[in-house]
Amino acid sequence: MATDNLTAVLHGIEDLRLEQRPVPEIADDEVLLAMDSVGICGSDVHYLAHGRIGDFVLTKPMIIGHEAAGVVAKLGKNVTTLQVGDRVAIEPGVPCRYCDHCKQGRYNLCADMVFCATPPYDGNLTRYYKHAADFCFKLPDHVSMEEGALLEPLSVGVHACRRAGVGLGSKVLILGAGPIGLVTLLAAQAMGASEILITDLVQQRLDVAKELGATHTLLLQRDQSAEETVKVVHQTMSEVPDKSIDCCGAESSARLAIFATRSGGVVVIVGMGAPEIKLPLINALAREIDIRGVFRYCNDYSAALALVASGKVNVKRLVTHHYDITETAEAFETSRRGTGGAIKVMIHVQPRDANNKVKF
Ligand code: NAD
Ligand code: ZN
Repeated sequence: MATDNLTAVLHGIEDLRLEQRPVPEIADDEVLLAMDSVGICGSDVHYLAHGRIGDFVLTKPMIIGHEAAGVVAKLGKNVTTLQVGDRVAIEPGVPCRYCDHCKQGRYNLCADMVFCATPPYDGNLTRYYKHAADFCFKLPDHVSMEEGALLEPLSVGVHACRRAGVGLGSKVLILGAGPIGLVTLLAAQAMGASEILITDLVQQRLDVAKELGATHTLLLQRDQSAEETVKVVHQTMSEVPDKSIDCCGAESSARLAIFATRSGGVVVIVGMGAPEIKLPLINALAREIDIRGVFRYCNDYSAALALVASGKVNVKRLVTHHYDITETAEAFETSRRGTGGAIKVMIHVQPRDANNKVKF
């Protein structure tokens, strides 16, 4: 049995350490995973810098990382759906399965959700990690481990587009072209949107969005008012957007989303910014704009996997940097500074491509 279980543990603000942890013991419905690829998410960086996100506060050391894929190393005795050696994407949140939300299929709202690297629960930037078998998604041979890890953010994009009701011919406005805005763009395209305008404050991010197929990109200035910008959005798109999806969390962006959306349309808020912001609510209600929240994803992993496996969505362009787990500190530095146009920084727990069946 392996003894090296090098693990990235967040002890407090600006205190991320690599240390040895015992290899976990698995329960009957769990699998032990030899971790392969773990992407860094904005929330990981936020916990490192601030020690909290809203009500989730780091009060004890926590293993970081939740955008991940690994290889099944051991099966719990009830597990029949996976085999040792299977390459899997890990859906990082495991709900209670018993509450009303779980039973109604909205398990992302479960109050007892155990979610990787959301305090107090450990994440999976570690060599060996255990997880509920039914929240592991077996990857076909032609899907890489990195793509498996990227199913996590892609599932957020799929969920956001499903909440927005994106479909054939939708005209979509996406605010923010960070990793989440970009996966939302990819999901919206795959779900049939005919026109997508995406905004950002950074031209480099918009260049990537254009490369990924955005119909229009719009560079915004920080002090630009929603009222001014909405005119440009409407002039640029062939029709007023019927779905707007905020993927940055700025007040100005949520305001723009409401003003820019056609009457009877939908505004979806994915971005998490200040807990309270000022919104043009009368404008929204008088035009019957539905404002909907998004919390992670729910039954979206299999669709995300199908999109990648079928070639309908290519997430590879999102990964700009690669590091070994021993270089975790540098990886986080690159991610938080956005060095070298960083979008998604991938940490490799095993040598890159070691577990891939075909050469990528
Ligand atoms: P990110 O910070 O990497 O990207 C945000 C992008 O928005 C950046 O490119 C930034 O330049 C741009 N931006 C900032 N202000 C803007 C404005 N006013 N108008 C247009 N663009 C603007 O973050 P990310 O990883 O892409 O995540 C995006 C947001 O989604 C974050 O707030 C994150 O917390 C949130 N998020 C929410 C969920 C959820 O379940 N609801 C899940 C994942 C991430
Ligand atoms: Zn539940």
